[in-house]
Amino acid sequence: MARHTEAVCRICRRERNKLYLKGDRCYSDKCGVVRHAYPPGEHGQARQKFSEFGQQLREKQKARRIYGVMERQFRRYFKEADRRKGVTGEILLQLLESRLDNVVFRMGLGRSRAEARQLVNHGHFEVNGRKVDIPSYLTRPGDRIAVRESSRKQPVFRHIVEAREQQGTVDWLTVDFEKMEGRVVRVPRREEIDVPLSEHLIVELYSR
Ligand code: SF4
Repeated sequence: MARHTEAVCRICRRERNKLYLKGDRCYSDKCGVVRHAYPPGEHGQARQKFSEFGQQLREKQKARRIYGVMERQFRRYFKEADRRKGVTGEILLQLLESRLDNVVFRMGLGRSRAEARQLVNHGHFEVNGRKVDIPSYLTRPGDRIAVRESSRKQPVFRHIVEAREQQGTVDWLTVDFEKMEGRVVRVPRREEIDVPLSEHLIVELYSR
């Protein structure tokens, strides 16, 4: 399976934004963007000016990196969003948010999307009672997502649940930390998707 292999904090620094790719570290003073608020590399501190195309491209790359999606799959999401009725940029984000790895992360059962993706990959989750180990699986309103019975005693979940129980989750999901399960209540609205993205730039890029 294709994946990003670059040091993740460099990705955030290049985008000049916290993309929350590392879990707990992202909320601490050790965050790469907090410590070095400029892009990586020899010319990182030089002033950079992007063309219109450059801005659109950066926005698309940022979106891909936040959700851990490779180019070809991202383009497929865009095509699907474009095909559906409504605001294409918003639908694109809704599709990305409905990925199983993202839902697990939003439920608080993974400290980052990367960790959630790995936990899904390792077969620790079920959707509506059936094992699903495909991170890109698209969940729908009404779906019940749960840690599988055989995985519930794994230390990784105990640590995650202890840490996340205090923080609460998003309104479009319900979570029962005791049972380590949750439900997708509805599709999130744009204002409920807290990602630093200007999705209209992505739509403009693909509409060229
Ligand atoms: Fe990005 Fe997290 Fe690294 Fe900060 S700690 S730069 S938010 S991945």
